[in-house]
Amino acid sequence: MAKIPYKIYLEESEMPKAWYNLRADMKNKPAPLLNPATHKPMTFEELTPVFCDDLVRQELDCDTPFFEIPPEIRDFYKMYRPSPLVRAYFLEKALDTPAKIYYKFEGNNTSGSHKLNSAIAQAYYAKKQGLKGVTTETGAGQWGTALSMACSHFGLDCKVFMVKVSYEQKPHRREVMRTYGASVTPSPSESTEVGRQILRDHPGTTGSLGCAISEAVETALSLPGYRYVLGSVLTQVLLHQSIIGLETKAALDKYEIKPDIIIGCAGGGSNLGGLISPFMGEKLRGEANYRFIAVEPASCPSLTRGRYAYDYCDTGMVCPLAKMYTLGSSFIPSANHAGGLRYHGMSSVLSQLYADGLMEARAVEQTSVFDAAVLFARVEGTLPAPESSHAIRAAIDEALKCKETGEEKTIVFGLTGTGYFDMTAYEKYNDGRMTDTIPSDEELEASFAQLPKVE
Ligand SMILES: *Cc1c(COP(=O)(O)O)cnc(C)c1O
Repeated sequence: MAKIPYKIYLEESEMPKAWYNLRADMKNKPAPLLNPATHKPMTFEELTPVFCDDLVRQELDCDTPFFEIPPEIRDFYKMYRPSPLVRAYFLEKALDTPAKIYYKFEGNNTSGSHKLNSAIAQAYYAKKQGLKGVTTETGAGQWGTALSMACSHFGLDCKVFMVKVSYEQKPHRREVMRTYGASVTPSPSESTEVGRQILRDHPGTTGSLGCAISEAVETALSLPGYRYVLGSVLTQVLLHQSIIGLETKAALDKYEIKPDIIIGCAGGGSNLGGLISPFMGEKLRGEANYRFIAVEPASCPSLTRGRYAYDYCDTGMVCPLAKMYTLGSSFIPSANHAGGLRYHGMSSVLSQLYADGLMEARAVEQTSVFDAAVLFARVEGTLPAPESSHAIRAAIDEALKCKETGEEKTIVFGLTGTGYFDMTAYEKYNDGRMTDTIPSDEELEASFAQLPKVE
């Protein structure tokens, strides 16, 4: 067999020309979004005041297997794609494992993560519809950064509600967004009804993604020519992120490599869903078999300890209900948790796959995640984002199992971003001040008790 290079790059001409809609191959389709008032499935007419028309079409379409990527988006992708698939020779050596480890690196753009793949698509459809601008929330800041880049490309206004704790801890993220022309408001804020309500109910709160979503939705609804866009969780986002998996598969196919295990970190599920899509498609069609592992933080364990139920997507309960593994929309992860992956729920597609036993999940503690991150940085050179390092942790653990058994498994994981903007977290780790917080069963039960009752 040909020697596998350190990096497998595709030519621009080999880039996927269509996104893949995994739902088309799912026997059990993900449950539909429900209207929070009537508990009936959301219709196109009900969703389009909040979301862009074409994105709603994608959201509601469970049958069309491929969506053409418009040429304007493909051209933008060429600024930073195809992204490399890297053979982690140095990591294999450091672990002394017979496993073969690959990672798909999505941090090679200024926003620093995979989120740009969907941001540019969402900005494109907003522009195509003739809108003035979009509103959104951002947690750790990657999504807001990606969206501000995408909006400046198409000349759209971009209003970002940034979770207050991140706004204060990550001034550099904020400045990148402002440099690309976005306006950034710490959430909860006094500028929306729901923000004022949350501040009255929880004075001194450091905010949450769910609460920032409510503020962004309210703002989009109150401004003519604006819509709300979301960086994860929704099925349209998984669709756009399928570019990650399609490129990964094309690169592996070039060298006839068949992965055994595919691993991704899971916040709302978009990078993992995108990475596994074409492989899961093969598994669903009975053409191949793979193990898929979702890795989440022990401090926000929606798949491993959540309920599979309809829940609100936001704290203010203004969004549709989604059936997903959830910790309850009132769950707010501990402020000592570093980085993203703080969302209370999980993509409905991944939730259904997990419920059907087609995917595994595990929760890992942040100190062990940073142990993995530091090892990876030192041997592979790339400084990983804390979120991505959850996947590194699991990949290392699987590779170490191979060392025990002598199996030469092929492991592929998603390296979703760079860690440059997360140096406060690394500082905590390097100073020995990082701790692990795991929510108690009582805490989770209290949150589950507030799940909406849906027949
Ligand atoms: C946002 C983010 C994630 C988690 O989001 P998903 O939707 O679960 O992919 C993971 N890694 C990085 C670098 C991110 O910015």
